[in-house]
Formats: sequence, structure tokens, C-alpha cells
Amino acid sequence: MPIDPIADQNCVRRFLLDEADDARVATVRLTQALSAMLDHQAMPTPVFSLCGELAAAACLLADMLKFKGEMIIQLKGDGPVSLLVADCNSEGQVRATAQWSTLDDSLSFQDLVGAGYLAVTADPEHGERYQGIVPLDGSSLADCLNHYFASSEQLDTRIYLAADTQQAGGLLLQRLPREAHSNRQEDTWDTLHILADTVGPDELKTLAGPPLAYRLFHGQTIRRLDPWPVQFGCSCSRDRSARALRSLGKSDVESLFASQSTVTVDCHFCGQVYQYDQADIEWLLSDQPPGPDTLQ
Ligand SMILES: [Zn+2]
Repeated sequence: MPIDPIADQNCVRRFLLDEADDARVATVRLTQALSAMLDHQAMPTPVFSLCGELAAAACLLADMLKFKGEMIIQLKGDGPVSLLVADCNSEGQVRATAQWSTLDDSLSFQDLVGAGYLAVTADPEHGERYQGIVPLDGSSLADCLNHYFASSEQLDTRIYLAADTQQAGGLLLQRLPREAHSNRQEDTWDTLHILADTVGPDELKTLAGPPLAYRLFHGQTIRRLDPWPVQFGCSCSRDRSARALRSLGKSDVESLFASQSTVTVDCHFCGQVYQYDQADIEWLLSDQPPGPDTLQ
């Protein structure tokens, strides 16, 4: 099958294996989507790379959603990178952001994030959201996610991630539940694990997609499914930012407006600025606010 290394950019790609229909392999590669998502956020290189890895992971997990909604991954720690968050919805819109203080480029992942937790949330448009939380435990973001999968998920899952300021890539191996796995499936699963463990960061960043799958698993009969395109997109809105402001409570909102004539709320993901003036106070403090269209 001809391989076009350019084609698999900004998409998630799933692969099926003839030898094991209980195994799922997926890759993601972000290039233009990564720039659109992060270039405007002026992040130090290590933070940019972590956000890229997190966004790649969010895409891989969102591809598995069986409902309309979004997958959110959040890291909170006491290191110089105090927050990392990425989400991807079932429409393939991905975004990421971070909070950080002064940091040294040579710090390890553990030094950057410190002690804290990782939360993975599946948030359906209709219905209950599901959230799993584990302490940060591992020498990389992928390690922490694998720790999460091992302790919170029913499915045997392993993820590999890499990113720099130009591109991000990821590989996911997952074993679907069966009443019993055949000997052939067991053997194939063990082989997939061993082969996937050989993947290097440069391969993930530059080859994710068919070139990577065929290189890693060349002894297997692999069939690729159609790519699932992902792109930068932000779901923020004036109404949503008003809700965030409202959640501060009446007295805090009033004291904000007492010291300034307008209050601005910035969306960290996309840079959009929402501004509220004195005329909006009543609306901000009402229990049942009118729709966003009624605001000037
Ligand atoms: Zn936004």
C-alpha cells in the first residue's frame, strides 16, 4: 500500500489487525493544529511540548468517545507548571492551555509539574460526566496517563507521546474486552506491546500515521481506517465566560465592578477577550440570565 507521510497530519488514524480483532491501534499527529492552538500563548518550550503531548492524548481519547461530547485531560501540580489542560470534542476540535511560573528549560517532567493529580473526564453533551483521578506518578506525561489507565480504566491501554514546538505525535494501544482471548490474540497482544515499546520520540513526532504503524508492526496484517481530522477550536463564548464570572458570587462580582468600570475575562485557550460593563451587572447577578444575544 503506498504511504504518503504528509497525509496523516492533524488527524487521528485507527488501525485494525487481522491477527487480533480485540486490539485497537491508533495514532495522532498534530502540526498546523498545534501551531494554531499554542503559538499565540507565548509558552516556554517545555510547557509548549507538554501541552502538545496533552493535546495529542486528548485527540486519541476523544476518538474513542461513543457519544457526542468531549474528553478533557487536566494536570494540576505544585511545580512551576501548575496547570495543564487539553480537551478534544467529538467534532474533532482540540485546544490546550497551561499556567506556569518562571522555569528552567532543563527541568525534568517531574520537576516541572511536581506533586499533584491527573484527571481524565468524559463529558457527554447529554448525560452524566465521568471523571477518573490519579496522583501524578511517572517520569513523563505518557507514564502518568498509563498509570491512570492501569488504575482507573477497565480496558488494557497504553499510550506513547512526544512533542516539540512544531509537531506532536501519539500512539495508543488498547485491548477491547472479550469473554476470553484466544491464544493467537494473546500472542499478538504481547507482540504489539513489545513492538510499541520500541517507538522513539522522533518517530512519534514525524511519522505518526500509516508510516509509523507499518514500521512498528510490519510483521502484522494491518488495515488502516479513514483518518479522523482534528483541528484547533475553542468552545468559549460570552455566555460561558459570564457564567464563570457569576460563579465568583454576588459580593465578589460587585467588588470587582466597584474598583473598575469594566471587567474583562480572557479565554486562555484562544485569547478571546470578553468585556462586561456596569450595565451588565444586573444580568451577571441574575439567577436566570437572558440568552447571550440580549447583551450588547
Ligand atoms: Zn476561547
